[in-house]
Amino acid sequence: MKKVVILGSTGTIGVNTLNVIRRNREKFSVYAISADRNIDLIIKQIEEFKPKFVVINNDNAHRSLKDNFSHNDVEILKGNDGIKTVLQTKEADIVVSAISGISGVYPTYEAVKTGKIVALANKESLVSAGDIIIREVKKNKTKILPVDSEHSAIFQLLNGKKNKEVKKIILPASGGPFLDTPLSDFKKIKLSDALKHPVWNMGKKITIDSATLANKGLEVIEAHYLFNIPFDKIDVLIHRQCIVHGMVEFMDGTIISHMGKPDMKLPISYALLYPQRDYYYQGLSLTDLSKLTFEPVSNDKFPFLKLAYEVGIKKMSYPAVFNSADDRAVNHFLNGHITFKEIYEVVYEAVNSHIPFNINNIDDVLIAENIGRQLVDKIVKRKK
Ligand code: MG
Repeated sequence: MKKVVILGSTGTIGVNTLNVIRRNREKFSVYAISADRNIDLIIKQIEEFKPKFVVINNDNAHRSLKDNFSHNDVEILKGNDGIKTVLQTKEADIVVSAISGISGVYPTYEAVKTGKIVALANKESLVSAGDIIIREVKKNKTKILPVDSEHSAIFQLLNGKKNKEVKKIILPASGGPFLDTPLSDFKKIKLSDALKHPVWNMGKKITIDSATLANKGLEVIEAHYLFNIPFDKIDVLIHRQCIVHGMVEFMDGTIISHMGKPDMKLPISYALLYPQRDYYYQGLSLTDLSKLTFEPVSNDKFPFLKLAYEVGIKKMSYPAVFNSADDRAVNHFLNGHITFKEIYEVVYEAVNSHIPFNINNIDDVLIAENIGRQLVDKIVKRKK
């Protein structure tokens, strides 16, 4: 029986992880859950899964849960310190890192530092702190099992193959809701349009990132670190149907593709049950797949992707500033402070106006992220 810690249990990935665990009760127990502030759902999760620890991030939510919920067997902790306490206990086996956005970086780092297996759904972690997280993975002889659908696909395709056999990996992108919107209409894009993803139902931050393709940019950097593969061997193609989740082209020109239903429970199950597979799912009907299409990405409409490659190649503080600047700029967009097009403009300016420095430890990462946030706030203020 494996004991699972779910960081971010009330988000889409967290809820789906609990769905997978619910069907595999004989294999997993929930050791700890963490959430920001969704108390109603947290209480339901405590009652059903009976974790030993619950960590709440938000001050008020933490207080009200402590005051109103007296359950003898559960310990209620707070914030990153609480997460650290949970991770440092010996009992837990797997940590599902599913906190959304930039807040997930530090907890992921702490998780690999304790040598626990990390099922990684938070792509921001490897973007901001790739070098030092991979360093800790090696030092502590642990593993990161990808939960992002594309990375799970590539992980399954590579399956231990030597990198010298690989010509390139291909990450498909759905293209988001504005794939067919002419560039001249981008200035009219409204928040409600950007929140409508054609295929996946996800949290707000990642939905906006999918509409700008910043999400795919983050995934390119994540893939670079996860698979130790250079940026010139990572390609992105638009694939509207979201059936192919990843492809690997080998040196002889053969391309192997991973196909499956667009259902996050699949990569979650794969990471939790690895190296076994879950027998639960119904597969694809190949005869239903009359048409699978692949198209190049338009750099004019989606400049975020190019910027992500640039910051990934430059390394140093660039990816962390890019990451936090995007996180912040999306927040400003969600709050109506900037337009859809300005998300990129603000991030571009923040990245290129910061004074780059080397990242040697987690504190450097947090400093870089802070710089990104501050620059964005300053640029947004000026624009208003
Ligand atoms: Mg993805």
